[in-house]
Amino acid sequence: MDCLFCKIIEGSIPSNKVFENENIVAFHDIQPAAPIHVLIIPKVHIASMNEVSPENMPIIAEIHQVAQKLAVDLGIAESGFRLINNCGRDGEQTVHHIHFHLLGGAKLGALTGISNSHQ
Ligand code: 5GP
Ligand code: ZN
Repeated sequence: MDCLFCKIIEGSIPSNKVFENENIVAFHDIQPAAPIHVLIIPKVHIASMNEVSPENMPIIAEIHQVAQKLAVDLGIAESGFRLINNCGRDGEQTVHHIHFHLLGGAKLGALTGISNSHQ
């Protein structure tokens, strides 16, 4: 499958991994939007939140467990962080393999709303 994150999982595209188990991989975002910016993804290809089903929902729960652990490991649990999923066109999802952004290490700006380019 021609999917950037599937290639990162299989290792044909390099990444700076911070976590891996049988179900999940986490790695530093190539264009960090905060001092800590990690992407947490399932190894199974799920395109977006729209494709999450009762069968694969446990992996979404496990991603949250991994996010909690990584926040501790990366030293941002106490200071706080944001866990974000962008879905679809209006959500500005650019990679169509579901992923959760773990952001922290500085006070983050307000959540953005409607962008001018999308009005
Ligand atoms: P989205 O906008 O789809 O929610 O987020 C996709 C994220 O993937 C972006 O933050 C972008 O910087 C990141 N990204 C895109 N290509 C690569 C890559 O080749 N390697 C890594 N580590 N991150 C990538
Ligand atoms: Zn994929």
